[in-house]
Amino acid sequence: MMDMHVTDTDRPDPSVMELIAARPSLSMHAMDGLLLDDVPLNAIADAQGTPCWVYSAGTFRRRYRLLRDALAEAGIAPHIHFAVKANDHLAVLRLLGNEGAGADVVSGGELSRARAAGIPGERIVFSGVGKTAAELTLALSEGIAQINVESAEELEMLSAIACGMGRTARIALRVNPDVDAGTHPKITTGLADNKFGIQAGDVPALYARAASLPGIEPVGLAMHIGSQINVMTPFLAAFRRMAILVQALRDQGLTVRLVDCGGGLGIDYRGDVTSTPAALAGAMKAELGGLDVQLVLEPGRWLAGPAGVLLSSVVLVKQSRPRPFVVLDAAMNDLLRPSLYEAWHGIVPLSAVEAAHMPIDCDVVGPVCETGDTFARSRSLPPLQGGSRVAILEAGAYGAVMSSTYNARPLAAQVLVDDGHWAVIRPRQTVDALWRDEVIPPHLTRQG
Ligand SMILES: *Cc1c(COP(=O)(O)O)cnc(C)c1O
Repeated sequence: MMDMHVTDTDRPDPSVMELIAARPSLSMHAMDGLLLDDVPLNAIADAQGTPCWVYSAGTFRRRYRLLRDALAEAGIAPHIHFAVKANDHLAVLRLLGNEGAGADVVSGGELSRARAAGIPGERIVFSGVGKTAAELTLALSEGIAQINVESAEELEMLSAIACGMGRTARIALRVNPDVDAGTHPKITTGLADNKFGIQAGDVPALYARAASLPGIEPVGLAMHIGSQINVMTPFLAAFRRMAILVQALRDQGLTVRLVDCGGGLGIDYRGDVTSTPAALAGAMKAELGGLDVQLVLEPGRWLAGPAGVLLSSVVLVKQSRPRPFVVLDAAMNDLLRPSLYEAWHGIVPLSAVEAAHMPIDCDVVGPVCETGDTFARSRSLPPLQGGSRVAILEAGAYGAVMSSTYNARPLAAQVLVDDGHWAVIRPRQTVDALWRDEVIPPHLTRQG
C-alpha cells in the first residue's frame, strides 16, 4: 500500500500537460484550446463570461458507475448516498438520482433540495450534529430512509417528535470511531475530540435505549471519519471498530441491519496518490462483509470534485518581487477552498498556445480585499496576461456550494456539459439581485 504519500508536499507540482493527461474529461486541442468532454471551454466562456462553473455530466456518471461496479465486484449491494453538501445543484442531484444514487443531507434545506431534484425519501439519509425540531419533523414527514443520530439528547428529542406525529423514526447511531484520518485538521471528523458522533464506549447503552424508546427503530450504525482520505489505513481501523460494535450489540440481543460507512474517499488534486473504489470496497468487504448487514456509502468529493472546473479570466498581471501576481476575476467568494484549507487546485490555461510556453513562477490571486484571497502561491505556470483564461480544476465539490457574495460579487454562472452539448444550469446572478431582498426601514428614507 502507498501509505507514505499522505503529506509529501516536497514533490514538484504537476505540469499543465501532466494535469490534463491525468484527467480523462480534459484534453487540449491546438485550435480550440482546453476541452471538457470535447466541448471547448472557450466557447462557454465567450457566451457566459467568467467566472463560470462548468460540470461534466459524463464524469459524474462515469465515477458513480465505477463506484457502483467496485462495490458489486466485492459482492456488496450498492447503496450510494451522494453527500449533497459537496454539490447541491438540482441538475447534479437529478443526474445522480437517475443513476440510482440516494442523498446524504445535513440540513432541512438539503433534504428539500434532494426531494425537489426527484430523489425519493426512501433514498435519503439525514446526518448532522444539530438537527432542529423543525428539520426532524420534515425528515419524518418525508419518510426518509434513516436519520443518523449523533447524541443522546437528539435521540430523546426525536422520540418525542416521532410520537407526536404518530410515526416511527428509523435511526442509525453515528459512531465516533476515534481514528485519525490523517487529513487537514478542518476536515477530520472522526477523532474523539471532534464534535461529531457518539463515542464508541457509549454506543451499546444508547442503542439499547433507542430500542426501548417509543417512535424509534434503531437499524444500525453510521460513521464518517473525515474527507480527502487517500489511504485505506484509517478506513480499515474504523470499519474494524464498527464490526466489533455490531457484534457487541448483537450479543446484547439487539438488531443491527446496516452499517453506513460514510464518505471521505479522496481525489487527485496535485498528482496525489489516491485510493480507489476497489480498495474501499475491498476494505468494506474484509472488515464488514461477514456481518450480514447492508453497507452504505456517502461519497461527496470523490463523485463530484473531478466533475467540475471553474473558468476564470486574468484581469491583469501585476509585476512584483519576488514574483508576479496573476490577478483573476474569480475569487475566494467563488471558490473558498484555497483560502479556507490551503487547498491546492490545478490551474490550466484555456489556450493551447499559452499552455505550451515555458512556465514561470507566480502567485495567482483573486481581487477580493483579503490577503487570504489567494488561489496559488509560487505556482509554476506558463506566462499569462490580461484576458488570458484559465480553468481551476477539481472544482466540482465544495466549490459553488461554498460561494458567497462577499465584496458584492454576484454568484457565478453554472453550466453542465453533457454528451457534446452544454446548457446553462444557473445564470450568473445579476447585480441588483444582490440587494433585492434588502429593506431600508422607512424612517431612514424620510430625510429633512
Ligand atoms: C461531508 C460528509 C460526507 C461526504 O464527505 P466527502 O469527503 O465529500 O466524501 C459524508 N457523510 C457525512 C456525514 C458528511 O458530513
